[in-house]
Amino acid sequence: MSDWPQTADVVVIGGGVAGLSTAMQLSQRGCRVVVLERQQLGNGSTGRAAGLLGQLRGTAESTRMLMDGVEIVRALEQRAGVEIFVQTGSLRVAQTSERAEEIKNLVAMGKSIGFNIDHMPLEEIENVLPYMKTDDLLDACYCPTDGHLQPAELVAAYLHVGREQGVRYASQCPVEAIVTEHNRVTGVVTPRGSIAAPAIVNAGGPWSYLLADLVDTPLQTTAMGHVYLTTRPNPDRPIDSHSPAIRDRHLRIYARPESGGLIVGMYGEETPHFDMQQLPADFDMSAMKVRRDDLQVALLIDAARQRYPWIDERTPMTMTTGIMTFTPDGKPLCGKLPNVDGLFYCSGFCGHGIVQSPTIGVIMANLILDGQTDYDIAAIEADRFWEVPGFQGREQIAAHCDQMHAGYYGKVEGREKPPNE
Ligand SMILES: Cc1cc2nc3c(=O)[nH]c(=O)nc-3n(C[C@H](O)[C@H](O)[C@H](O)COP(=O)(O)OP(=O)(O)OC[C@H]3O[C@@H](n4cnc5c(N)ncnc54)[C@H](O)[C@@H]3O)c2cc1C
Repeated sequence: MSDWPQTADVVVIGGGVAGLSTAMQLSQRGCRVVVLERQQLGNGSTGRAAGLLGQLRGTAESTRMLMDGVEIVRALEQRAGVEIFVQTGSLRVAQTSERAEEIKNLVAMGKSIGFNIDHMPLEEIENVLPYMKTDDLLDACYCPTDGHLQPAELVAAYLHVGREQGVRYASQCPVEAIVTEHNRVTGVVTPRGSIAAPAIVNAGGPWSYLLADLVDTPLQTTAMGHVYLTTRPNPDRPIDSHSPAIRDRHLRIYARPESGGLIVGMYGEETPHFDMQQLPADFDMSAMKVRRDDLQVALLIDAARQRYPWIDERTPMTMTTGIMTFTPDGKPLCGKLPNVDGLFYCSGFCGHGIVQSPTIGVIMANLILDGQTDYDIAAIEADRFWEVPGFQGREQIAAHCDQMHAGYYGKVEGREKPPNE
């Protein structure tokens, strides 16, 4: 950015999908927005994501939000003149009676809100996914409108539309202070200068709790590692690049096709935490590597092999690792806290920030400009842990997030009754 903006209507801190989507939606409504990014735009968690866009969630409201998100991505494609969404459909599979019951409930919930979902006969799964073990499955549900995208392409589309609408972006520009007067934000300070603004969004991803510390506020997020593998293409075992994504919550894995190979990731019981304060100021998440003899990698390969028996330690593959932002209940933190007016939080996407970002941008713009939104955001409001004992200290927060992460894929969903029952 050549000429430094002295003022803005809204300053967004963090150029990941959450901040970029919020900035795009705010500018669409006529706001003067500046996005400040400590490193490169889209190079935090966003740059490491596997890019799965699955809309089915455990509740009707969260599923609806993600259905709208896919529509927003479709509109973005039109506007930016690019094709980014690869619609492959996705399957959730069940190999225990409890998981089969979960799928039955989720299909009923999905149908009750008009989501395209149904059971898929087991013979059909064998045909669609010849490279997957299916003989232990009891049931599966298929969501034909799911798919995936490359996060960098989503970032490029947010930037394309944002720029057209006048958003200003500054990379290599860390926010060092959030200025307040009488419990109200008035601006931010960076090494390149200050910007005065009546509204500031903390979209700092894994760093968001450090930004909250700048205004002495405990934010209930923690930074946790995640790993996925990508097998190299093998002409003897072709993987159709349009075959459906898989979620096997019993084995805690997800999978999708990628360039002739297969991505498989896992939400295991044990995952390293990161103290973001201890990382160097110029820390670059894209440079993170994971050792092949790491425990997380061994557990991932073991789980992957149970669903894809041709995967083992000798399979040619690459490993991708990065840092995710987790919260104590697995839901993001969006909106204001009672102590500082004009400061909005948009963080804690628990491994699902790519898919949530399109609708989250709309919700954030609603909250900032209208003070409310038509979406039912009770489950994601930022103030739900405000002054709740046991959720204020760093160690307490990390312990809750750890527990949530350990049960993230393990817990059985879909017990909520469909809204019309
Ligand atoms: C390995 C892996 C796989 C994943 N797979 C998926 C998936 O398949 N589907 C899915 O939906 N999600 C997935 N995710 C999760 C997804 O990547 C995140 O939820 C999402 O990218 C979060 O976006 P964000 O904008 O909140 O955070 P980030 O992308 O981390 O952006 C935050 C930005 O804030 C910047 N920042 C921090 N502090 C400051 C400061 N002081 N000043 C200025 N800038 C600052 C950071 O540099 C960073 O760029 C995955 C994540 C990982 C790590």
